[in-house]
Amino acid sequence: MNILVINCGSSSLKYQLIDMKEETVLAKGLVERIGIEGSRIKHDTTGKERVTIEEPMKDHKRALELVLNAILDKNYGAISSLDEIAAIGHRILHGGEDFVQPALITNEVIEAIRKNIVLAPLHNPAGLMGIEACRDLMPDTPMVVVFDTAFHQTMPAENYIYPIPYEYYEKYKIRRYGFHGTSHKYVSLRAAEILNKDIKNLNIVTCHLGNGSSIAAVKGGKCIDTSMGLTPLEGLPMGTRSGDIDPAIIPFIMDKEGITTSAEINDFLNKKSGVLGISGISSDFRDLEDAAEAGNERAKLALNIFCNGVRKYVAAYAAQMGSIDVLVFTAGIGENSSYVRERSCKGLECLGLIIDHELNDVRGKEAILSKNIVGPTIMVIPTNEELMIARDTLDIVNNR
Ligand code: AMP
Repeated sequence: MNILVINCGSSSLKYQLIDMKEETVLAKGLVERIGIEGSRIKHDTTGKERVTIEEPMKDHKRALELVLNAILDKNYGAISSLDEIAAIGHRILHGGEDFVQPALITNEVIEAIRKNIVLAPLHNPAGLMGIEACRDLMPDTPMVVVFDTAFHQTMPAENYIYPIPYEYYEKYKIRRYGFHGTSHKYVSLRAAEILNKDIKNLNIVTCHLGNGSSIAAVKGGKCIDTSMGLTPLEGLPMGTRSGDIDPAIIPFIMDKEGITTSAEINDFLNKKSGVLGISGISSDFRDLEDAAEAGNERAKLALNIFCNGVRKYVAAYAAQMGSIDVLVFTAGIGENSSYVRERSCKGLECLGLIIDHELNDVRGKEAILSKNIVGPTIMVIPTNEELMIARDTLDIVNNR
């Protein structure tokens, strides 16, 4: 049974066709510049040469049409008929409080996603465009939506209500939602699988460290707390996002710099802050590590602030869960940067988290980084959000 996974941005579309029998990727690709000049698809069918298809794509529907043509192409395609696609899984950023798990797409579900646009004005509309395009082109194929927020809906109220007047939660649903849920779910399940333990008996802290970074406390397979909040701006300092700061800094800077609009504030907090803002060099951790090695003090400072943030959240979440059995690193930085992993774990020896310098010299593959036989295990697990979406899709379709 093949599942097509679709992840739409405002001008992009990522896709993967996965054969669920062996969970193998048959084809995958990326469409860029939808609705802009220079639209193109980079398409890879497993075992065949990559092709780049350059053609105007005025909207997501046209992009998807060309993606389906690519998947069906005699020379570089992966299947011979659309009937071989059993279901489609869509990633949507924000499910608000309406979705605690993936859902079969119906008109009511689409309405609920639309209602939550207010919480994700840039992302949910793009996801909806992908859903509409698939409905037009493959009306009889069942579709499932998987939300980035759903995994975190198990948090208790004391971890998602903000200490501001309660009426704002009631009026506007201002609360912690958390993001990267599909990734936190995948790596926590995979950690239990690798360790051959029942996830119900494990306290796991998952660190998704990439361009956007978040940490989650996963107790017995359920998320009880996470670092991102109402939006993906809260929590760790990130590539260009500030993460946690004193909220009073915002009116202070507005007064000093004569800033009057929320758009300008959003711009500086989301695009000019984080490790880019601190270092003045780059948002990319490879550049920062190179600069720090060459003696750049602000690059060192940015890396230290980031690693301090990771350490604080790990310790706080271990305390919230009462203990920690597994610490997982994933995503671009978590999977690749031995520097960040080692520095973040400094001080966590007090919780029994002892990273081994040699075992930590690993990049982009599943590995155990701790040697101790008793006490918690530190791991790297490359995330696989597409596979998690495909599994969830299959699950929902099979249990309709
Ligand atoms: P992601 O958002 O998960 O794709 O992560 C992207 C980020 O991972 C990049 O911006 C880099 O900061 C980081 N990254 C990727 N490769 C490495 C590496 N070898 N060493 C350090 N950081 C890396």
